[in-house]
Amino acid sequence: MTTPFEPASPPQEIIPLCVPSIRGNAWDYVKKCLDTNWVSSVGPFVDDFEKRVAEYSGADFAVATVNGTSALHVALLVAGVEPGDEVLVSTLTFIASANAVRYAGAIPVFIDAEPVYWQMDPQRVRDFVEKKCELRQNQLFNKETGRRVRAIVPVHVLGHPVDIQAIQEIARQNNLIMIADAAEALGARYRGQAIGQFGDISCFSFNGNKIITTGGGGMLVTNDPAFAARARYLTTQAKDDPLEYIHNEMGFNYRLTNLQAALGCSQMEELSSYVEIKRGIAALYRDAFADVDGIRPMIEAPWAFSTFWLFTILVDPDRFGMNSRQLLRELSKRGIQSRPLWQPMHRSPSFAYLSPANCPVADHLYAHALSLPSSVDLGAGQHRVIEALRDLSRRNTVIAR
Ligand SMILES: *Cc1c(COP(=O)(O)O)cnc(C)c1O
Repeated sequence: MTTPFEPASPPQEIIPLCVPSIRGNAWDYVKKCLDTNWVSSVGPFVDDFEKRVAEYSGADFAVATVNGTSALHVALLVAGVEPGDEVLVSTLTFIASANAVRYAGAIPVFIDAEPVYWQMDPQRVRDFVEKKCELRQNQLFNKETGRRVRAIVPVHVLGHPVDIQAIQEIARQNNLIMIADAAEALGARYRGQAIGQFGDISCFSFNGNKIITTGGGGMLVTNDPAFAARARYLTTQAKDDPLEYIHNEMGFNYRLTNLQAALGCSQMEELSSYVEIKRGIAALYRDAFADVDGIRPMIEAPWAFSTFWLFTILVDPDRFGMNSRQLLRELSKRGIQSRPLWQPMHRSPSFAYLSPANCPVADHLYAHALSLPSSVDLGAGQHRVIEALRDLSRRNTVIAR
């Protein structure tokens, strides 16, 4: 019973976009680090975490890093990317993918997305390679810039795998190393197989908003023992003599700590169920929006098993009655956090020094996409999101009038 003195509607809890879910053995494992004094960048949990991620992602080797960005950076160095090289990167991505290329002194070449699953478009890659480049002594060169093209970094955007085989084939034919940015895609599969077994190297992130978290952390996985050894060397300051501290080249302090890896081990035990929960969230959203005019939910390719990291919709302003940013503000008023996709890299002021790229699909997706709350612990909050969005749709507004 409400009295006249109570507010008409009590303040609602804010539903965040995506927050971690800490469960299971996390406390136990972290406490073990504290109790044994193994808290830093050496320790049994680091090795164990690497083993677990390698196994889960279908790769032979894994090297843990302080975050996903450093995993990408080291992957590029391991791939032999040198200053002045060009590297093909998805334009529709979080900026870390492109920044890593820049850290290696290389020049990103941005590739547009395809419009159906929003991933790097293999046809655009082929067009670039065939129209703009030539092979000289089995090395690909950009005919316009004269630069060597060394690697390709497709991103599994929002946890949905790119068409790996199509891109891998182009990479093989042109001697490009393929480094997949799988930061959002741990647990995803391509034609039934874990994504870590494709390409030369895959990189994961365990940032707080990713599918599992170590607070901050990353990992690169590969089937190539030489790549793995080189990555381990570079991430631990390139130490050539552990007693005399002799270093033959420049390395990095990129090694994950045992404390973080302990959390990671516990999270790996939850991963399968998290992926199932995320897929369940996606299925519920998809059903709920099937009859909402002007909302197009993301879909899954027949050959894909997506993690549905952040469930994302496209908002058609004419049919829905408001655009994606207006919807974001309306949801925010109702205590619901949502977010557009990232400004595509070819539009980023931080890459304004590059020659302009034409990526109309990414532009379209950026204008219309909105990611909805997708936390593993979202639970009944999802019904509030669905109701809010259905209420805001033009059809409901018209009926209400
Ligand atoms: C999160 C993310 C990264 C970076 O990972 P960090 O661990 O935050 O450094 C890189 N690429 C993509 C696509 C990401 O979503």
